[in-house]
Amino acid sequence: MATETDCIFCKIIAGEIPSTKVAEDDSTYVFMDINPATRGHALVIPKRHTQDITTIDPADLAAVTVKAQEIAKRAKEVFAADGVNLLNCCGSAAWQTVFHFHLHVIPRYVDDGLIEPWKPGQGGDADVIAAAGAALRG
Ligand code: AMP
Ligand code: ZN
Repeated sequence: MATETDCIFCKIIAGEIPSTKVAEDDSTYVFMDINPATRGHALVIPKRHTQDITTIDPADLAAVTVKAQEIAKRAKEVFAADGVNLLNCCGSAAWQTVFHFHLHVIPRYVDDGLIEPWKPGQGGDADVIAAAGAALRG
């Protein structure tokens, strides 16, 4: 399994740093976030070290995503969560602070105080949207 010497999440998987483990299988590890956004905030990570969504092996991404679905369902059952957000950050500009891919599973509760990262406006500039779509299509 690929590990990175200075990666805190690799150290958590190896048991060198303590964590509140929730689940583990051959390719994924689930533990509680140490600074929870809400009650039950968990992190799902691949055991194989990789930096972010652009580098993760597709099979590991599939395994992490399916595990996140399990944890989301479980959070709704055990915490009676009203909803769940999945969050992934890629790059420091996108709020990533730990550079080992992870999916946040954040149970949501009515009036939990979290705010949306953006408010949809009146619609964007149609030409700019079309150009961006064309750029992505390539
Ligand atoms: P991100 O900002 O998306 O990279 O998220 C990193 C997350 O890792 C943050 O929510 C931190 O609270 C969490 N975190 C950092 N160190 C630990 C740790 N030792 N145990 C559990 N969660 C951690
Ligand atoms: Zn790592």
